[in-house]
Amino acid sequence: MSYDENNIFAKIIRGEIPCDKVYEDDHCLAFNDISPRAPVHVLVIPKGAYVDLNDFHEKASDLEIAALMRAVGTVARMTGVSESGYRFIANNGIDARQEVPHLHIHVLGKRDLGGMVGRAPFED
Ligand code: 5GP
Repeated sequence: MSYDENNIFAKIIRGEIPCDKVYEDDHCLAFNDISPRAPVHVLVIPKGAYVDLNDFHEKASDLEIAALMRAVGTVARMTGVSESGYRFIANNGIDARQEVPHLHIHVLGKRDLGGMVGRAPFED
C-alpha cells in the first residue's frame, strides 16, 4: 500500500490540522486521541511517512525505530501510566481495522483495560 500524503496524521505532522500535543522530538510526535477510550489515550507516531508496521519495519532506519520505542516509554512516564500499567496497541491493516494509514501506537491507561482483545478465546 502506498503512503497517502493526505491522511489525517500527515496533516497533523505538517501542522495543517491541530492536535493536543503530549510530546515531540526529531523523529516522533505524540498527541491525545480525539476519541479517547481510556483516561490516558495517546497516539505516538513517527514523523516519517510510514503506512503501518510492515512499512516501518522495511524502510525505517534503526534510529527511527529506536526513537519510536523511546517515545512510547517517555509518553508512558509523562502521563503517569508507567506506574499503574498500560497497553500499547498498533493496529496494522485490515484484520486489525486500522483506520488511519499512518503508523501509530495507541498508549492506553489509567483504567482497568479488560481482556487483551474483545472476543472469546480463539478456537480453530
Ligand atoms: P486506528 O483504528 O487506525 O488504530 O486508530 C485511529 C485513531 O485515530 C482512532 O482512535 C481515532 O480516534 C484517532 N483519530 C482519528 N482522527 C483523529 C484526529 O483528527 N485527531 C486525533 N487526535 N485523533 C484522531
